[in-house]
Amino acid sequence: MTERVPYDRPGALLFAATSPASPSSLAPGGLSGGSGQSPSARPEEENAASARLLPPGEAGLAGSIVRVRIPLPFPLRWVNSYLIPDSSEAGADRGWSLVDPGLHTPEAIAVWERVLAELDLKPAKLSRIVLTHHHPDHYGLAGWFQQRSGGAPVLLSPEGRRQVERLWGPGTPLAGETLRLFEQHGLGSARLADMRTHLESFLLQVNPQPELTELRAGECVRMGGADWLAIHTPGHAFGHLCLYQPEERLMLAGDHVLPRITPNISFIPGEDGDPLGSYLRSLAEIAHYPVQLALPGHRDPFPDLPGRAAEIARHHEERLAKMAAALAVPLSAAELCEAYFGKELTVHSLRFALSETIAHLIRLEALGLAEREERDGLIRYRACRVGEGRK
Ligand SMILES: [Zn+2]
Repeated sequence: MTERVPYDRPGALLFAATSPASPSSLAPGGLSGGSGQSPSARPEEENAASARLLPPGEAGLAGSIVRVRIPLPFPLRWVNSYLIPDSSEAGADRGWSLVDPGLHTPEAIAVWERVLAELDLKPAKLSRIVLTHHHPDHYGLAGWFQQRSGGAPVLLSPEGRRQVERLWGPGTPLAGETLRLFEQHGLGSARLADMRTHLESFLLQVNPQPELTELRAGECVRMGGADWLAIHTPGHAFGHLCLYQPEERLMLAGDHVLPRITPNISFIPGEDGDPLGSYLRSLAEIAHYPVQLALPGHRDPFPDLPGRAAEIARHHEERLAKMAAALAVPLSAAELCEAYFGKELTVHSLRFALSETIAHLIRLEALGLAEREERDGLIRYRACRVGEGRK
């Protein structure tokens, strides 16, 4: 079912599609972050129950943006898509923009069909699809919308575009590279076999593949009659973009800053050599933008972007310190991952946990706090005192 729900800022209207996905709790262990609760303005549980209606457009751009919760078949439960009408005019002639349409599943299509009908938005009037990053839960339906719209441009960063080709282009080279990486970092053969199946399972959920147009950091996109600045915010994804609207001080944050959960920071072969270092830098940078409301890719919109960015940075500093302490004996990333996140992870969670462990180990190495040893094709890390490690 879908329903309109109010946000605490007068006039800001959200559109919620209740998720038919499993109501299970968050991903296990530190994956879900849990380092402090963000000052989310309204608990998400209340969203579904609220019935107060406000007409769109009453409070400028913020009042006309519609959030659609698209169900996901994993513990994140939903991804936030944002609809931004091109003008306040109602009716069938209204153009609109779409940010991060969601994963291609039958459940997601059913939600979209219902939402478009209820809002009287015509696919042929879709002006553009903007992607904060290329991960399947955001990118998956871009091609479906492009086809339905008759060719609306799909905007993605140049780095994201390259990753799309490596992930889902001919030969899907990134899957093999990821499996080799995990093997070097100590993942056993049974888990590797599960991982191969898991990585291949996403192909159907991102089809059809869209024709992509590059959106570069520093460029502006016109949405809702206003300019949105694309800001490079790498770390969660190579080439991740946040979109900033300065007059209304709105930030489409993608998965760069999330409330209540910490974005996954993964080392991916062939991307950023130190994703956690990039992430912590871009987290500090985003906190400088004056923002009254951050619109994240998961969970609920929230007001305090700098406060949440600082909490997430602290979470990673604490995790780095704990992992460094565990490396008194040399450990592979797979061993450290098991010690930190536990043995019982699903293959989906294991992929994130192991990639995130590797990202932290690489950061420790860059800080001179850990040293990599490679023997018989297996990589292990051990702690070293400041200044002792390789630079
Ligand atoms: Zn996401």
